[in-house]
Amino acid sequence: MKVSFTSTQTPKTKPEDSQLSFGTQFTDHMFLMDYNREKGWHDSRIVPYGNFSLPPSTTVLHYGQAIFEGLKAYRCPDDTIQLFRARDNFNRFNRSAKRMCIPEIDTDTVLEHLKDLIRTDREWVPSSRGTSLYIRPAIIATDPYLGIRASHTYRFFIILSPVGAYYPEGFNPVKIWVTSDYVRAVPGGVGEAKTAGNYAASLYASEEAQREGYTQVLWLDGKEHRYVEEVGSMNIFFVINNTIVTPALNGSILSGITRDTVIQMAKKQGIAVSEKRISMNEICDAHEKGWLSEAFGSGTAAVISPVGTIRYEDRVLTIQKGTAGPVASMLFDEITAIQYGEKKDPFQWTEKI
Ligand SMILES: *Cc1c(COP(=O)(O)O)cnc(C)c1O
Repeated sequence: MKVSFTSTQTPKTKPEDSQLSFGTQFTDHMFLMDYNREKGWHDSRIVPYGNFSLPPSTTVLHYGQAIFEGLKAYRCPDDTIQLFRARDNFNRFNRSAKRMCIPEIDTDTVLEHLKDLIRTDREWVPSSRGTSLYIRPAIIATDPYLGIRASHTYRFFIILSPVGAYYPEGFNPVKIWVTSDYVRAVPGGVGEAKTAGNYAASLYASEEAQREGYTQVLWLDGKEHRYVEEVGSMNIFFVINNTIVTPALNGSILSGITRDTVIQMAKKQGIAVSEKRISMNEICDAHEKGWLSEAFGSGTAAVISPVGTIRYEDRVLTIQKGTAGPVASMLFDEITAIQYGEKKDPFQWTEKI
C-alpha cells in the first residue's frame, strides 16, 4: 500500500533531551488515513504535523466514538531505532475498534506506515537513557451528524512525541488512593477497550485523590466495589510471600502490554506469578501479617511504577517503607535493557525500524 508524502516547509527546533517532558512536544510529521464505506481505509499519507478542521457537528465531539493506543520507539546504543511490542499494540487497537463499532485496520500495513513515519522524523528520537519516542495512534468518528449511531466515516492518525526520562531523580514510589465511591468500568462495559471516554469518566475521582495528596486512583470492581482492578493508566501488581499477584483479566480491566511483559519476564526470572481475583481485604490482611513486600504498577509511560503508599478507607498501608522494592527494580532493569537494545531479546518483543 502506497503512502503519499508531503514534507514540512517549517521544521521545528528539536528539544534538548534534558528539556523533554511527557506529551507536550510533537515531531514535524504525522500519518493520516481516512475511512468511508465505499473505499474502506484509504488516502494513506505522511503530512506536516498540523491542525484538523472539523465541523462542530462531528460525531466524536459529542458522543466520544474514539479509540487510541500508546507505544514507544527507543534509540539503541548502536544508534538504530526499535519498536517495542508494536504488533501487540495494533492487535489491541483492533479489539478496541471492534468494541466501539469502528472499522478495523490492517495491522501489517499500518505498522509499515508507522515505520515510514518514524524514519521521516528519525532525528526526533531522543538518545539519552530513559528518553524515548512516544507514539499515539488514534481513530475518531467524523460524520457531521448528531444522530446516535456508529459513524460511517473515520480519521486514523498517528502523532509522535519525544518524551523525557520518567524517573529523572530515581525510581520514585507513588501514593495511590483506593476509591470505594466511584468505578472506572463495569462488567459488560468498555473497560477493556482503550477508548477516550474511559479517561473522561476517571477524572473526578482522580481530582479527589489529588486533593488528598495521592498521585493516582486504584479502581475496584464495578459491581461489589471489593476487588482490585487497576490504577489510573497502569495495571497493578503485589508481591505477597514472594509470589507476584495481579488481578486476572475479567473484561473490565485494560489488558496492558506492559502487564504481559512483566508476567513473562517475572516467570523467566523464576518468580511465581498468580493472576486471580483479589480483594482489598486480602491486601490489607497480607499487609497486616507482613506478607505484602511490594506493590507496583505497569504501563508504557513509566514501564514500572513502585507504589509506596495505599490509602483504603481509613487505612494507610505503607509498603517497603515507601521505597522501591527488589522485584520492581529487577523487572524495571531487565525490561528497559531489552527496550533500549542493551540486552538480547529472547521474547521477540523488539522490531528494528
Ligand atoms: C493503556 C492503559 C494501561 C497500560 O497499558 P500498556 O499497554 O501497558 O501501556 C492500563 N490501564 C489503562 C486504563 C490504560 O488505558
